[in-house]
Amino acid sequence: MDGPTELQNLVNSIEASVALVGRDEGGVLVVRACNDKFLRMLGRGQPAIGFFPVPFDAVVPNYARPAFRDKLQECFATGVPQEVEQAYDLREGTYWWRLSLKPFHHTDGGTAVTEILITGLDITAKMLLRQELEISTSRFRSVVDAAYDAIITVDQQHNITLFNRSAETLFGYQAAEVLNQPIERLLPEKFRTNHRQYMQQFTRSPVHSRQMDERNRVYGLHRDGTLLPVEIAISKISVGGVQEFTAVIRDITDRVRLMDLLQKQAVTDELTGLPNRREFLEVVGDVLATDADLSVFMLDIDHFKKINDNYGHDIGDDALRALSRVAMASTRAEDIFARWGGEEFVAALPGVGLEQATALAEKLRLRIAHENVRHDWKTGGPVAFTVSIGVAERQPKERDANELIRRADQALYRAKHAGRNCVQVN
Ligand code: GH3
Ligand code: MG
Ligand code: MG
Repeated sequence: MDGPTELQNLVNSIEASVALVGRDEGGVLVVRACNDKFLRMLGRGQPAIGFFPVPFDAVVPNYARPAFRDKLQECFATGVPQEVEQAYDLREGTYWWRLSLKPFHHTDGGTAVTEILITGLDITAKMLLRQELEISTSRFRSVVDAAYDAIITVDQQHNITLFNRSAETLFGYQAAEVLNQPIERLLPEKFRTNHRQYMQQFTRSPVHSRQMDERNRVYGLHRDGTLLPVEIAISKISVGGVQEFTAVIRDITDRVRLMDLLQKQAVTDELTGLPNRREFLEVVGDVLATDADLSVFMLDIDHFKKINDNYGHDIGDDALRALSRVAMASTRAEDIFARWGGEEFVAALPGVGLEQATALAEKLRLRIAHENVRHDWKTGGPVAFTVSIGVAERQPKERDANELIRRADQALYRAKHAGRNCVQVN
């Protein structure tokens, strides 16, 4: 006689929520039996005596009813077990349950009956973890995607596992196009061969993060084939015991452009665009460090003060620019023609002896004297002028640039005294 109570106690001791659902004569879903946990799951209190069978709709809260009912109907119709995850809002909070629905066949007074056995497991803790994970993942994603720098991670096989929005912009690829692709794709050809080796070294190194090659410029390869000057900080990270690498990449195109410009400005004469004295001495110094032949000449415009006096300073500037153009056109690529200062210029001719240098100087002098230097003169017509040139040759093993230039200057002085518009040799 204690049978039903014992059975009730048994099902109540199960850690799962359990219920048996059938259909009445009208086909309406009814809960024939369930344990306390099932009722608590639905936010109901203890059942009163004579509670069962109770209409399904009477115990299941309306917000959960449609999905639950659909699964039950499906289970009845197909005979195939079903599963459904449901959230129940109780006073103390929301609980998540995973419900398994299984057909249960038995006979009742000789007639075959099919009912459905429901067992539910509380998966709230798991759902909360999943939610937490989703939040932290989406926070991570937002931070990574909002980052100004490109961020790329690669796995141990050097395949790309993360490619943030800035990386997409910088390299011109969508993340989906490069994920699981080798990182080499983003490197210029000449860096590819050493890259694997470099990464293996870094894997073994005790250092966990570092700036990639601080001395040399580092470049990335854009989708369209252009080289991107970049600054890269790399770090090793361990994800689930597996090592990965993260690169934070900053586009330094603007900085590089500015540095190049400043560097160029530092060695260029502003008025003529010619190399300046500093650059000239640097080049001559390099040649003098070797044993190569070298001649230099120094050129000075004759009576330049008169050009300024007669036509104005602007026309004087024009003459300096016109002379620069003619001289540049008359020298070889390996020669350097520079502005020494004022209306004085210097040339260095590597591999050239005194005789050939003198001939070149003479040719330049004649061009200037006879051509009336073609130029877009502000006066409207060409301004005629002449130049005097002093040539000197490097002595064997001579290393001192100043001494060599001093001899050219002496020769120039003699050219001036010889009546100007001529070339003298020292
Ligand atoms: P010489 O034949 O003896 O060389 O006579 P010169 O008049 O050319 O010589 P001097 O060295 O006495 O005069 C050089 C002049 O060049 C003086 C200076 O005002 C002028 N000068 C120097 N730099 C510039 C410049 O950048 N632009 C212009 N327009 N004139 C300059
Ligand atoms: Mg002068
Ligand atoms: Mg002069």
